[in-house]
Amino acid sequence: MRDFQLELRQRREAGLHRQRREISGPQRPALTVNGQPLLSFCSNDYLGLANHPDNRRVLSEALDENGLGGASSHLICGHHRAHEQLENQLAAFTGRSSALLFSTGYMANLGVISALAGRGDTIFSDRLNHASIVDGCRLSGARVRRYHHGDLEALARMLEETAGHKLVVSDGVFSMDGDVAALVPLAQLCTKHDALLMIDDAHGFGVLGPQGRGSVAAAGLNEEQVPVLMGTLGKAAGTSGAFVAGPAWLTEYLVQKARTYIYTTAMPPALAQASCNSLSLIESFDSQRAHLAALIDRFRDQVTLMGYHLMPSATPIQPIVVGSNEATLALSAELQNRGLLVTAIRPPTVPDGQARLRITLSAAHSFDDLNRLLRALVQCRPDCVVSPVLSEPFAENV
Ligand SMILES: *Cc1c(COP(=O)(O)O)cnc(C)c1O
Repeated sequence: MRDFQLELRQRREAGLHRQRREISGPQRPALTVNGQPLLSFCSNDYLGLANHPDNRRVLSEALDENGLGGASSHLICGHHRAHEQLENQLAAFTGRSSALLFSTGYMANLGVISALAGRGDTIFSDRLNHASIVDGCRLSGARVRRYHHGDLEALARMLEETAGHKLVVSDGVFSMDGDVAALVPLAQLCTKHDALLMIDDAHGFGVLGPQGRGSVAAAGLNEEQVPVLMGTLGKAAGTSGAFVAGPAWLTEYLVQKARTYIYTTAMPPALAQASCNSLSLIESFDSQRAHLAALIDRFRDQVTLMGYHLMPSATPIQPIVVGSNEATLALSAELQNRGLLVTAIRPPTVPDGQARLRITLSAAHSFDDLNRLLRALVQCRPDCVVSPVLSEPFAENV
């Protein structure tokens, strides 16, 4: 038998061991973590909807009306009117002809990618795409070509030299860096080479674009230009689940072929009803998004002045790349001593040597909250935060 205990020890020694923290009470900036109050700057609840009173009320009423369990898969007897309503609302919200619900974003990516490409096909994937995309590519059995992050010239060359069915897949907002993909040229490239384009907008949905319609809407791209649009409901929407939106043929095809849609229990109908409510709130949250943008601006200005290395991100994801695992963990611990929760993100979630604090801002943060974070960052600033290797290429963007 393999020596699993040894592997665990080695992970600990490399600073790669992962530990969970226990949260009690609702998700919000003022978190209770292992019984201790901490101000959180690492959740994906970008609009404060995870604990919104309207959503809680809608959910409890929906539970009275429709009960709790999903009880079956969609194709047996689990496809509830509430799911149908949410799909219609998601299609309208994203400006697509149709939408299909999945239980999680991870399952959506596995199911959609493996349905849309297979043996003999080629998938082109940005190197910094989310792990669920990487796994979906593997599962598909297609040939996978990964291009350097954002390198559309490399992608163009690869598309040029490839025959057969091509699927290009990219995060809309990159989850660990916070930058937005160059969606317009990406879509043009796909049209030119007759490649199917899929965008995973887990972090853009609810946050970017007009009324929070996402990064694809912000780029003004319709369903012909981006036929496969995936989004999740567990982040800005504050509930749980995911969807794929696009032309009618797409959802019809996925209902036949996406195994993570077919062979799993439908999400609780009441949760779909709460997500419908979230969607209405997202649409009306322009002032919350403006507040969030103001927090992001102030954060970037102040932290840059402190000499920290920021990435070229205009989204709520604002990582500070530290470099070594140990130094990142130490900085995270220092912040925790000052009452702040910012988890260290280490390989393999990010490339080796690029461990970071992934700070995320939310419309639920106040300027006082932000000032607490800024004061702590001044006090904790280690010498190593400005990485000589990494600061160069990004210097013009800081
Ligand atoms: C979070 C995330 C997912 C997975 O979504 P879940 O609903 O949490 O499973 C997929 N893609 C990206 C880019 C993500 O950030």
